[in-house]
Parts: sequence; structure tokens; C-alpha cells
Amino acid sequence: MRPFSYERATGIDSALHGLQASPESTILAGGTTLIDLMKLEVMNPRHLIDITGLEQGDAALAAITQTPVGGVRIGALARMSDVADHPLIRDGYPVVSEALLKGASAQLRNMATMGGNLLQRTRCVYFRDVTVPECNKRDPGSGCAARLGFHRLAAVLGASDACIATNPSDVAVPLVALEAVIHLTGSNGQRQISAGDFFLQPGETPWRETAIAPDEVITALELPPLPQGSRSHYLKVRDRESYEFALVSAAVAVHVTDDVIDWARLALGGVGTIPWRVPGAEQMLMGQPCSMATFTIAAEAALLDAIPLPQNAFKVALARNTLARALATATGLDAGDAA
Ligand code: SF4
Repeated sequence: MRPFSYERATGIDSALHGLQASPESTILAGGTTLIDLMKLEVMNPRHLIDITGLEQGDAALAAITQTPVGGVRIGALARMSDVADHPLIRDGYPVVSEALLKGASAQLRNMATMGGNLLQRTRCVYFRDVTVPECNKRDPGSGCAARLGFHRLAAVLGASDACIATNPSDVAVPLVALEAVIHLTGSNGQRQISAGDFFLQPGETPWRETAIAPDEVITALELPPLPQGSRSHYLKVRDRESYEFALVSAAVAVHVTDDVIDWARLALGGVGTIPWRVPGAEQMLMGQPCSMATFTIAAEAALLDAIPLPQNAFKVALARNTLARALATATGLDAGDAA
């Protein structure tokens, strides 16, 4: 780890001032990604601005509260475990709670913040190994070792010649599906951006992973109200059941009236360079009977644009099956009872 200086922010304004004062400064929250990457010398900030104490001066930064329109606002410094266990999330947004519980070990969930979760970096092995020179995300213009190397875990949707790495966040998948809104504060004031617009596909600039500006911090996430009686589920498939990133995952939320689907929100994890919303599949569910046949057709549509590489081709069929099964679980159908 390289030397760095450290300060404790006394407020959002002081944190923003620190970011403006030094372009090589970085916000420190739970630190569960940043400290790892600093030890590996993948990230080398000269100055850390610790914002973990700000909740004492501004409780809203870690609070989980109902919004006036019936949604839920989650402060960016709220810990993953507190959010997963909160009744407003557990009862109103099971898909979010389940994604958080599947997203990390209990120790990490107790440290990691919601804002930091959205900014975590990819788990591509080449990104995290500085002895490999070719990584456009770590060193722009250097190439992509994964394309011709190990890419079993890489994306089949949204990849570019420059980068094929997946977004690693679990909870970002339901946030994108449910059209959550992210609140940002920066030197130009406050703004809001939908989770779907927050994450950026790699294109020619894979080092730009989100729409957050260098002088901005995340202050909150806001979940919209869901239709009364809707049901949701997060299904994660991984190589081992504990402390592992997704091979594929599916976040689904649906509302069914008289056995007909009249509202659906779907997104996939582990297959895209960003959490991957599948609006075409959502549309295919609308007005259809709640059956495995319906879910299978929608799941086929969700992966139509997939472009697999030799080692990750298995993800296409796995993602289809995972999405169909997640829908079956959310709606109470037996996944093995194909209609
Ligand atoms: Fe780097 Fe992206 Fe290629 Fe991985 S896939 S080596 S992160 S450029």
C-alpha cells in the first residue's frame, strides 16, 4: 500500500471541499472495496476523506424512512445489514433484502454502506492484478487481457472491445429493476439520477463505470412505491453458496390479478457490464397468464442480445433458467411444473 493522507469530514460540505482541493482524493465509507484495492495497489489515492462519522451530525445519511409518496428513502451511509433487516425493506421490498443478504458475508454487510456498494469495482481478475499490464479499466489504452485470457465470469451483455467485465453488485440489480433513484450532492448542488442511468456500459471508456462526477458524493437512494400486493424475489446462482459473486442472478417483481400478470420489473446480474434491465421481457409478461410457459418465453427474450465468448457461453442458458425460476418463486409457481 502506498502512503496517503487522511481526514475525517465534518460535514458533506467539508467532504466536497476535500474532493475539490485534491483530484487525487477519494471518499472512504465502509472501505470494504477501497482498502482491498489500495492494498493491491490497484487504486492509489493520495488522500482519503472519511465520511463514516457524518451520520452523527446528519442522521438522514444513514436513516431508512418512508417517503411521502409511500416509497422508502435509504441514507447512503446505511449499512447493508441494517437495510436488509429493516421492516420497511424486508416486508415491502423482499428482492432488495434478499440481494443484500446474498451480497456479502455478515462481517462485510456490517461494514459496507449502500452508497459504497453502488461504487464497488469489478472483480475481473486482471483488473485486480497489477502484474498484468493489459487492463483498460485500470490503465486506459493498455488492452484487455480477459478477451483472450480467462473470461468465464465475464459479461455476455453490454461488453465492448475495450472491456468485458461484469458489474459485481447484487443490490444494484433490484435497484435498477425497481427504478430506484440515486441522490447526489456535488459542488454544483444536488441532483437525482435513476439507477438505470447511473451505471455506464464500458464502450471506449471502461474506466468510467458510473455517472457520478469526481466532485460528487451519493447521499441517498430512493425506492419508489410498488403496486399493492406485488411480489418480488432475488435469485443468485454462484459457484459456491457462501461469499461468492454471481455467475448469474435475477431480480424480479410482479403483480398478478386473477392469474394474469399486469405489472413486471426484471433485471439480471452477473451477465452484464452493468446491472441489466430487460424491458422487452417485462413487456412480454404483460397480460399473460401466470405460468412457466409465460416465464420461459420472457426469459428467452431477455437473453436475445447476448454475445457470449467461449468460456462464458454457459451463462446464457443459466440466466434464462434463473430468470424463469425467479419468476416462478415470486409468483408461487412450482419451477418444475412447466405448463
Ligand atoms: Fe480490464 Fe475490463 Fe479487460 Fe477485465 S475485462 S481485463 S477489467 S479491461
